[in-house]
Amino acid sequence: MKLILKSLFLSVFGLALFDVSAQKIEPIPIKKFYKDRVTRNLQFLCKEAECLDNIVVNERGLYMYPTSQRVDKPEFILYWREMSHFNGLLDEMPHEEIIEILKRKGSRYFYGIKSTHVDPAKYPVTDYLGLKVAIDPGHMASNMGEAILERRYMKVEGVNYDRNSDIEFFEANLAYTTALRLKELLEDKGAEVMLTHDYGKSAMGINYYEWLETDFKKDIIAGYKNEWYNREKFNYLLSGEATDFVMFNDVFLNKDFVARANRINAFKPDLTLVIHYNASEGSQRYDDKYLPPVKENYSMVFVPGSFLGFEVDGKDEVDQRFELLRLLVSSDLEESNVFASNIMKALDKELKVDALPSDNTFTFANKYSILSDMAEGVYHRNLYLTRAVKGPIGYAEALYQDNIDEIPLLGKKDYTVGGITTSSRVKEVAKVYFSAIDQWLKYNQEFTKKLDALYDDKYGDEEIYAEELKEQESEN
Ligand SMILES: [Zn+2]
Repeated sequence: MKLILKSLFLSVFGLALFDVSAQKIEPIPIKKFYKDRVTRNLQFLCKEAECLDNIVVNERGLYMYPTSQRVDKPEFILYWREMSHFNGLLDEMPHEEIIEILKRKGSRYFYGIKSTHVDPAKYPVTDYLGLKVAIDPGHMASNMGEAILERRYMKVEGVNYDRNSDIEFFEANLAYTTALRLKELLEDKGAEVMLTHDYGKSAMGINYYEWLETDFKKDIIAGYKNEWYNREKFNYLLSGEATDFVMFNDVFLNKDFVARANRINAFKPDLTLVIHYNASEGSQRYDDKYLPPVKENYSMVFVPGSFLGFEVDGKDEVDQRFELLRLLVSSDLEESNVFASNIMKALDKELKVDALPSDNTFTFANKYSILSDMAEGVYHRNLYLTRAVKGPIGYAEALYQDNIDEIPLLGKKDYTVGGITTSSRVKEVAKVYFSAIDQWLKYNQEFTKKLDALYDDKYGDEEIYAEELKEQESEN
């Protein structure tokens, strides 16, 4: 609020009050700092040339176009000196308001920008006290029946292990209990933790069957307006003939994702962790239920980035373009990458599960992702949550649930947390995430020290600044 008032005040008086010669300019090489950041981030944010050609980076700043720079005028312009102000706005205002401000500003500078400081760590959280962590436990089943509806369950024939009875468990249970255990570990240290939903419920507070009792047709209509499905599917969903599987996946689940992101952003966390358990790609169930155990066992973690051309091209895609702009300029991408790399390291060292090798042939990796340069197994990918959640985020897919050695471990019912019975294996996974958060805090501590050193360096850029102001005046 303070910041909003300040910008209002400055916009009333404009630049007239602004006296360059009297102003003490912070001696920080702001242009180099942000140009380096934007240039580095860009390599991981665009998967296709059709995304890259919406962006121009030059000596003055960053220009983003609604399609290609060869066809359109820029939609957003940020000069290097404005970047820390923009990062401040991200903390203070809803995105729609910032989009309006940027559109009004056009090629002019923000009114009254005088700050020349760099803000490398948007969240300089270095201690558990004051740390806010949002945890999103993947999926929402609380029993095998619901897990079958969301098709996230494991059922393995006992004969694989010389047993009479089958082994069964489901991902929503593992993810939720991992989250609860991690919450305990973090709260013991003084952190504040939020979970996006209750066990067995969506982030709207109801499960699928409760949702069917509501006026769900309005959600089908809203989903169509949001382009979740085409006209044909829309008609099918409204027909009353749609199967539970389609209704669940195409309407209810999308609505749940939006609600999860909204809850996280309303909490304003310093760090967000999405918890899933992995499974081998392409396994086929037999006898309509059983999965065959596999030998491989790999983990991966998703972070934001890897936008495709169609996701950022065109008038309607302004929201995704704005997220792309946020990820280019803020520290969110770097901090996500650090967090995800620490998760991979802990999975490897503590849990003894390898990162998915980079020479894999999986479709998700080749068509939709960019491999991080910080750790194997970490992929930039434009999922709804990696894009819509503000701030650093790691979307973890730990171990293969269908791995031959994991199955008997995950199938145990030998641990209870928050009144929910599960496998004690989740305690070990929770410990991994706890270690990664610990390392992330240490990285921020180091970064704060580096930042202090940077402030000690003497650079004089008053002259550059005066040049920029002159340029701007001649443009206006
Ligand atoms: Zn999952």
